[in-house]
Amino acid sequence: MVSIAVIGAGLSGLVVANLLKDNAKVTIFEKARGASGRLSTRRAEPYFFDHGAQFFKAKTPEFQAFLTPMMEQGIIKEWNARFVEFMKTDVINKRRWNGTNPNYVGVPGMSAICKYLAKDIDIQFSTRVSEMVDNGSWKLLDSDRNDLGSFDWVISTAPAQQTAELMPKSFLYYDSVCSTKMVSCFTLMLGFNKELPIDFDAALVGGSDISWISVNSSKPGRAKGYSLVIHSTNKWAEEHLHDDRNEIMEYICRHASSIIGVDLTSADHKNIHGWHYANIQKQPKQDLFIDEKQKLAVCGDWCIQGIAEAAFISAFNISNKINEIISGR
Ligand SMILES: Cc1cc2nc3c(=O)[nH]c(=O)nc-3n(C[C@H](O)[C@H](O)[C@H](O)COP(=O)(O)OP(=O)(O)OC[C@H]3O[C@@H](n4cnc5c(N)ncnc54)[C@H](O)[C@@H]3O)c2cc1C
Repeated sequence: MVSIAVIGAGLSGLVVANLLKDNAKVTIFEKARGASGRLSTRRAEPYFFDHGAQFFKAKTPEFQAFLTPMMEQGIIKEWNARFVEFMKTDVINKRRWNGTNPNYVGVPGMSAICKYLAKDIDIQFSTRVSEMVDNGSWKLLDSDRNDLGSFDWVISTAPAQQTAELMPKSFLYYDSVCSTKMVSCFTLMLGFNKELPIDFDAALVGGSDISWISVNSSKPGRAKGYSLVIHSTNKWAEEHLHDDRNEIMEYICRHASSIIGVDLTSADHKNIHGWHYANIQKQPKQDLFIDEKQKLAVCGDWCIQGIAEAAFISAFNISNKINEIISGR
């Protein structure tokens, strides 16, 4: 059976593994301790925070079909949030999301989706792939140069810059990967021991260093601890990536308080996460990166657009193509 190494256990890597596992022996290597990547949930009991993706859409029939089993089992639900849009401190739009253009979340946290997809997959966690050696097949090494095994195919689903560090320069699309720029984002996580007088669940913010504020605990099936998630803009994060984390936390907290007119500084729990590769600034020109001759491929949201559905579509297209190749269709 053909052996395939997949780098990354975010949505793309897990989709690829699930769609290829009937035709190949698939192993995922993930540098983190668990699956999910940017669809993760951070735990600080009694508070839980979806500190990456907040919700997602499923507009394509392929993604809808893939999600159906999870919807039937209650792992994915609609989030019918009270939504507002701020321009600076003014509310310029207010509505309730509904089923006509549904926004979905994982239940009881975003990470439930990847946990479900990881169930029957061979995943080696806490394993950062650092080098690929061409020895007729692809030998992978971790950061201590331990041999992780040799594989017929390697598919990287790591963000563009991390994929560029790994792929050999001979990879057919090496230049495209290198020219793809991903940008950062800070996420402030706040927990409160009582509810706050906030009359929205989700807020898009314009004209500010903050782009998003949500009452995470208002999502379906969440634990009781009242929690807020606040994202900086990508621009602000790029300019402050190396600043002191406490100062960043205090700035975002004060700034968000002034936008919504509610003091957030007395939070019971405060934490900040810096995403180095959160979103795409410059997208590649094509979206199917498969080098059939060298048996190398890359996929991920950044190949199309910085949203979960794009991560799925990218992984779905690559998997179909590789299934065709290995089954000789
Ligand atoms: C702050 C933020 C807010 C967002 N909001 C939304 C939203 O509201 N709606 C939406 O649809 N999308 C949103 N997104 C985007 C969404 O999260 C992504 O599109 C999606 O999760 C990407 O999945 P992926 O598998 O392509 O990449 P990732 O989730 O980044 O997975 C890549 C994995 O590769 C691993 N990895 C990297 N290098 C190595 C290595 N060398 N060895 C081993 N493992 C490695 C990483 O640890 C990671 O787990 C948001 C993202 C962020 C960061």
